[in-house]
Amino acid sequence: MIIVGSGHAGLSVAAELSRSGLQPQRDFAVIDSNPDGQRSWAFRWSSMELLTEAGRSTVAGQHLTGDPYRRPSPREIEQHLLDVESSLGVTTMWGIRATGVERLGDGSTLLLSTNEGPVQTRNVVCATGAAARPRTPGWAVGAAVPGIMVHSADYHGPGQIPRGDVLVVGAGHSGQQIARELSSTHRVTLSSRPTYASAGRPIRRLVGRRRTDARGAAALSLDPEWAQLGIDVVSAAVAADGAHIVFDDGRRIAPQSIIFATGYRPADGWLPRRVLDATSGRGKRGTTGVPGLFVVGMPTYGSRDADTFAGARRDAISIARHIMKRP
Ligand SMILES: Cc1cc2nc3c(=O)[nH]c(=O)nc-3n(C[C@H](O)[C@H](O)[C@H](O)COP(=O)(O)OP(=O)(O)OC[C@H]3O[C@@H](n4cnc5c(N)ncnc54)[C@H](O)[C@@H]3O)c2cc1C
Repeated sequence: MIIVGSGHAGLSVAAELSRSGLQPQRDFAVIDSNPDGQRSWAFRWSSMELLTEAGRSTVAGQHLTGDPYRRPSPREIEQHLLDVESSLGVTTMWGIRATGVERLGDGSTLLLSTNEGPVQTRNVVCATGAAARPRTPGWAVGAAVPGIMVHSADYHGPGQIPRGDVLVVGAGHSGQQIARELSSTHRVTLSSRPTYASAGRPIRRLVGRRRTDARGAAALSLDPEWAQLGIDVVSAAVAADGAHIVFDDGRRIAPQSIIFATGYRPADGWLPRRVLDATSGRGKRGTTGVPGLFVVGMPTYGSRDADTFAGARRDAISIARHIMKRP
């Protein structure tokens, strides 16, 4: 059995398989395409704080120690994942990329293709991440600003952004954090979609019943915090005309630089066509139409909150049960 991806989703499945009596390296292997030991959290900007409090940032059932109400940094999560991996006795095989998976004939064997060659196995768990590929709006191709344009995935801190006005597109958790940080060094405009309902899936799911941060422009602009920080909250950016960005209320600005905090796409391109084309795997808790192939950590194929610590763990428990019951 092979788990593809050694983030918290993959390790959650490893933990549940271990609890069911299977042994890492002997009964299942964990592979990851990243260079040795580098997890996705290593690439987040250094001042980032998680939305999930430490007490809820539980990986494979293991808690972060210390104040449960603090917002952990990506570095803490990176270390936590390393600790969890070692406590499970998992030795991730780094630098191995899955490139495809298919069922061999009508049997119960899967053929997993990797950059190191093909391997036959009965079960494959895809845990390659829902937030893997930066997503930018279509209009961005028409933008030509004098400074830089970066996605939040490549944002490191204020020192990276040239002097002058900055437009942060997207007012979810990342966009708000970045706008706040830049407000002490730059003049910032924060663009949010017009209504809460169209602002994407509510971030509330990340933190249980806490009030969401993902409000629309109208609600956001009423919050005095933004005015105090000197941040101009505007409506959705809908077009680019060279150096000018156009908003849905007709307003135009010419920022020096743009940061796109506009979300991500999943790393599911290596899954079989019939799995990708299935209308929705929601509610199936990570099972797919292909016997022996499971997906954890991606809402399209599992629970609505599958891309959070809590949701991935729930789906991991279900996937491990399915695997253990397979004839
Ligand atoms: C900015 C940001 C903030 C977030 N904050 C929170 C939060 O506060 N609380 C919360 O619950 N969630 C949060 N999330 C969501 C989620 O917890 C993270 O995205 C988390 O990294 C997902 O873990 P994962 O194991 O599913 O995927 P990843 O951590 O992305 O791990 C996937 C692994 O798969 C590997 N991989 C990818 N493709 C292949 C391949 N083809 N073959 C082999 N290996 C491959 C990658 O190298 C990677 O190591 C946040 C996400 C982002 C982007």
